[in-house]
Order: sequence, then structure tokens, then C-alpha cells
Amino acid sequence: MTNENQELKKAGLKVTLPRVKILQILEGSEGSHLSADDVYRKLLDQGEDVGLATVYRVLTQFESAGLVMRHHFEAGTAVFEIAQEEHHDHMICLDTGTVIEFFDPIIEQRQKEIAAEHGYEIEDHNLILYVKPKA
Ligand SMILES: [Zn+2]
Repeated sequence: MTNENQELKKAGLKVTLPRVKILQILEGSEGSHLSADDVYRKLLDQGEDVGLATVYRVLTQFESAGLVMRHHFEAGTAVFEIAQEEHHDHMICLDTGTVIEFFDPIIEQRQKEIAAEHGYEIEDHNLILYVKPKA
């Protein structure tokens, strides 16, 4: 059984060809953040006959199953990446659209402290820095 098949089963999803193909695409582009359209185009390049509606549906199922994370770096566009064990945040270059992943223990710690000061603990967070190359 392939890795993808095992992961789908572990996530409680039935193994179907579109699911396996889409999971392969997301895993084959680790560190990248793909829109449903990007995934759809990669499937077309591979000669796979999977409709855009199916791509959307599968990505939503993957998100619910905890296999992928959905981000909204730009209003109106969702991008997806494989869920990783290690948490990271994102920086988006406004000039080029480049996505940079980063992790900063001091930021993480401060966020916990700030939530605690308000009587809360963090369930989840999503930090996005919108940046421009230094002049
Ligand atoms: Zn990321």
C-alpha cells in the first residue's frame, strides 16, 4: 500500500483516485502553498481527468480530516499546504507573492503570554506578515 493510501485511511477517508492524486501533488510540493486552481492545473499536466469541483471538494475534505491547512494570504483566494507537525507562520512579499515560512520562539511565547494576560489559552493562531523588499 502506498503512503498516500495509508494516510487517507488513517485520516478516515476512503481511498479514491482523485484523493490519492491530489495528496501526491500536495506532498510533492512541500513548502509550497497551492490554490485549488494550481492543483487542478497540475492534474491536467499529468493527464488526469479530475474536475475543478472535485478538487475543491477533496481539499475541503482533507482540511476537515486535518491532512491539510487552508490559508487566506490574499482576500478571496485560499491556498492549501500539507499539515505539518511543526508549527510555522508566513510572510508574503507584496511585490512578488513569494511565501516565506518562519518560526520564532519569542513570538510564540509572547502570544501565549498575551492570551494568558486576558485569561485565555491559545487554541490556534495564524500570523501573516505582508512585506516588501527592503528599500
Ligand atoms: Zn506554510
